[in-house]
Amino acid sequence: YGTSPEASDVARAWLAAHGDGFGHFIEGAFTPPGDDTFDVSNPATGETLARVAQGSAADVDAAVAAAARAFPGWSATPGHVRARHLYALARLVQKRERFLAVLETLDNGKPIREARDIDVPLVARHFYHHAGWAELIETEFPGQVPVGVCGQIIPWNFPLLMLAWKIAPALAAGNTVVLKPAEFTPLTALAFAEICREAGLPPGVVNIVCGDGSTGAALVRHPCVAKVAFTGSTEVGRQIREATAGSGKKLSLELGGKSPFVVFADADLDAAVEGVVDAIWFNGGQVCCAGSRILVQEGVAERFYAKLRRRMATLRTGDPLDKSTDVGAIVAPVQLDRIRSLVAAGEAEGGTLFQADTDLPATGCFFPPSLFTDVEPASTVAEVEIFGPVAVAMTFRTLDEAVALGNNTRYGLAASIWSENIDLALDVAARVKAGVVWINATNVFDAAAGFGGFKESGFGREGGREGLEEYLTHPVREVKRASLTG
Ligand code: NAD
Repeated sequence: YGTSPEASDVARAWLAAHGDGFGHFIEGAFTPPGDDTFDVSNPATGETLARVAQGSAADVDAAVAAAARAFPGWSATPGHVRARHLYALARLVQKRERFLAVLETLDNGKPIREARDIDVPLVARHFYHHAGWAELIETEFPGQVPVGVCGQIIPWNFPLLMLAWKIAPALAAGNTVVLKPAEFTPLTALAFAEICREAGLPPGVVNIVCGDGSTGAALVRHPCVAKVAFTGSTEVGRQIREATAGSGKKLSLELGGKSPFVVFADADLDAAVEGVVDAIWFNGGQVCCAGSRILVQEGVAERFYAKLRRRMATLRTGDPLDKSTDVGAIVAPVQLDRIRSLVAAGEAEGGTLFQADTDLPATGCFFPPSLFTDVEPASTVAEVEIFGPVAVAMTFRTLDEAVALGNNTRYGLAASIWSENIDLALDVAARVKAGVVWINATNVFDAAAGFGGFKESGFGREGGREGLEEYLTHPVREVKRASLTG
């Protein structure tokens, strides 16, 4: 399953069928790829997978115009009919789940087990959940209307899942969209465009324009875009906030994180070790809410680190298409270089680095699961989001110290707290400034729960009722009074 020859063959055949390159998906049809293209490669092997069009300002303009033409019809479509379209998208994602999982793994480098068991099922779940909301919009949000054309920009770490987080609520609420996938990983978005066509979604409701940051910037600036939704780095989020300031556009930003993973002395240490595996080695640590800062109560720290190192030695890093792989490839050489230089900085600053003795593949972008201990709270690796399979660990003595260390960051996306004392865990949860707090768990996502951050992790929520509010607005009505005096 997932790695079955059939699923890989289907993905390979699909890529071969698009050997001439991919264009953009505008008004229900693909444009020709043209001459201005970029290569998309498999980070596990370096092979080129596809040639994809680089979106120009004119392409963005055409896509926004298509979305604007589709908006009156789609927003006036009754909620239960919009729901039928979202159900159809969900069902087709499920029908193509093996193909989509393999394509995601080829493009991003994540282990097939994750793409197959986590990413793609969550995508379907997101569309099913929002199909339900589409039916309820009129009664649950009385007096509110869709915003209009939404410009949506997503990163490369969960390409199809981030697409679902953006498109499903926007469509449920009656908006039309132009989405720009990340330049490293546009392939599943293009496969999704085909699904939109197959599902009979009206042309122009979903448009996909590929390209790099300049394409994204053109989309953000476009005067007919009424709402911008962005997931990516804090740095680009800041640029987008500046570009939209004073424009009246609605904006939501899902940015970086350096989330604390707090282990109290009374925690189930074996469960917490498994928690760390999920927190920082899931998707190779390329997760905005990764529990990348492990805070351990002093009395159990050495015992906990010893258990963790033993567990690290059992993690398999390598071929993402192999079902037994735990840690796949890093998305691109530039990200690998960034991780390497941050790890070098951590060593130069005196951190103790542990890396399990693993044989990494000779080619491709791979980095072993890594753990820094003896880390100073003010050091580079304790402050900067590494966005790779690298955890840093520090100790604390008291509950207050744990809260202070947990909040000692410019981010505020997530936190994970491990203790067998629920009163203590809830107390800490209330005092940690994080948009999502998990207790004795980590990286649990559900379409029904709002996800988003505080501080430099951004603002706005995705998922659940709060997520829908980002795609609705109150109409401005001109109130005309009849003159009483005639
Ligand atoms: P990035 O900010 O470089 O790119 C994200 C997207 O923005 C890409 O599609 C890119 O082409 C586009 N972009 C780049 N410059 C732009 C500009 N000036 N205007 C408009 N669009 C522009 O981030 P990345 O390297 O792709 O992703 C990694 C970062 O994303 C990490 O910092 C991570 O924490 C963050 N992230 C956050 C969340 C979340 O939900 N909070 C989720 C995933 C990733």
